[in-house]
Amino acid sequence: MNRGLSRLLLLSAALCTLPFAAQAQQKAHVHGQVKLDVAVEGPTVVIMMEAPLDNFLGFERAPRSDAEKKTVDEAVARLRAADTLFAIDPAGNCKLGPVDLRAPVLGLGKADAAAPAAGAHADIDATFAFNCATASAVKFIDVALFTAFKGPRQIEVQIVSPQGQFKRTLKRPNARLAWGK
Ligand SMILES: [Zn+2]
Repeated sequence: MNRGLSRLLLLSAALCTLPFAAQAQQKAHVHGQVKLDVAVEGPTVVIMMEAPLDNFLGFERAPRSDAEKKTVDEAVARLRAADTLFAIDPAGNCKLGPVDLRAPVLGLGKADAAAPAAGAHADIDATFAFNCATASAVKFIDVALFTAFKGPRQIEVQIVSPQGQFKRTLKRPNARLAWGK
């Protein structure tokens, strides 16, 4: 009796967490918003990005026409040329290293994610790594996402640097991400 009851409670607890998980996932996906994590560590500046694909393409699925294919190719090329999107404080003397783009609906990165249902939302995640002569001197990054793409309106940023940890919000058209002194 007792055991049956506790099993029932466990089951209802498990069921209750499901809507919360779904809600949290949906909340993270807001068109116009971009999330960046900037880590200044050792000789590198690594920028991790999470964003709805809509920000860069205007749609969130595989391209269906030549025009859409061109939109995808151009967006991917712009994201790969990350040193034009992220102009890092020249004090750091940084050069672009590896760029990793992950968007399963476009066949970028790991293709193990289940194909989303029609009309579902889809993200693009990216990692942009820069190698720097003096990374610890970096105190700002000029972010060109607002000029390169029509979609992004607000960028939420977390920075972990030798100067400490910072949270910043960039709103169109403000493009300079600055921290430290
Ligand atoms: Zn979406």
